[in-house]
Amino acid sequence: MIYLDNAATTKPSAAALEKAAEFLSDNYFNPSAPYGAGFALQGQLKKARTAILSHVCDVNAYELVFTSCGTESDNTAIFSCCRRGNAVTTEGEHSAVLAGLTELKNRNVIDLRTAGIDEYGRVRVDELLDLIDDKTTFVSVMHVNNETGAINDVNAIAKAVKCKNPRVLFHSDGVQAFGKIPFRLSPEIDFYSISAHKIGGLKGVGALIKKKSAVLHVFMHGGGQENGRRSGTENVYGIKVLEYAAEEKYAKLRENFSRLKEYKSCFLQSLNGEIYTPLSSPDASPYIISVSAKGLRGEVLLHMADEKGLIVGAGSACSSNSKRRYSRVVLACGYDESVADGVLRISFSTDTTKDEVLAAAEILNEIGAELSRKMN
Ligand code: PLP
Repeated sequence: MIYLDNAATTKPSAAALEKAAEFLSDNYFNPSAPYGAGFALQGQLKKARTAILSHVCDVNAYELVFTSCGTESDNTAIFSCCRRGNAVTTEGEHSAVLAGLTELKNRNVIDLRTAGIDEYGRVRVDELLDLIDDKTTFVSVMHVNNETGAINDVNAIAKAVKCKNPRVLFHSDGVQAFGKIPFRLSPEIDFYSISAHKIGGLKGVGALIKKKSAVLHVFMHGGGQENGRRSGTENVYGIKVLEYAAEEKYAKLRENFSRLKEYKSCFLQSLNGEIYTPLSSPDASPYIISVSAKGLRGEVLLHMADEKGLIVGAGSACSSNSKRRYSRVVLACGYDESVADGVLRISFSTDTTKDEVLAAAEILNEIGAELSRKMN
């Protein structure tokens, strides 16, 4: 089996699972317990927090709240920061951001303003800045688009946003960027969401990185864990796996980035250009490639690939839960429905090999030609 749907989820890192194993078995205590074993686990959580933060930001200026997933991190930032007035975001956002903001709009809490994206899925920055005024309380711009891999220069965007309105709280969804893209948070970014299962960690663990100076209005009330910011007993094992998986990714971040960039160009060169058109730009994340087989149905190709042992995605991972036929993001990029209907998302992990990439291109060429023949 060739698994190229890593933007949906990754295989947990065997090394991280093994290193964290003691926290699943012997070290099972409640990290809030007022005795030695509990204090030791609090120390382990603190170590994980600092290690994860150190990969992307100044540990003295930022802190980290563990959550249950990227979706919770996004929602925590949104429901904590949006105040009466308006919130500005982009058409490229994951539903974890768009649905949360839409909910606040439907409750008449905010006026929601959405900036367009270009053909590759990058936010149109001028349009975004034009939407910001003195009533804007919150801006959210994703770092890497989960469908096209487009990279937004969120540091520069946050800086320009703060120039227009310094009171805005700036959030970025970094779920597809953390552990993959060389990057450090500039001081203009107040909140940054990450998720463990996209980088060899486990499903059900995420984190919201926040500026120490930014106030977080509590969303989950209860036992006061996470310094009172997110109640609920921490998933110590999952958090330690995240810490170790991140350590593994950051030890070889640039090496992996350039290797996968090379695989991406090999893959695109091997793909039959008469059937498939790349939608991702050459400078997008090398981890995510979106292509369209115009006139063919991506969903049918996905099942044909599956039968041949190749697993790829079709647009957003969450789209299988929705009734929508076309990817909202691909339509927002300006493509018509016949292009949007033929979209496949191929996403790599650091475990992906060149042989797998070449074999995947061959399978896609084969099934693309087969389906074209059937259609004519
Ligand atoms: N944000 C982006 C950009 C994503 O790609 C995803 C997952 O696909 C999420 C948020 C949600 O993350 P989680 O699955 O951890 O809730």
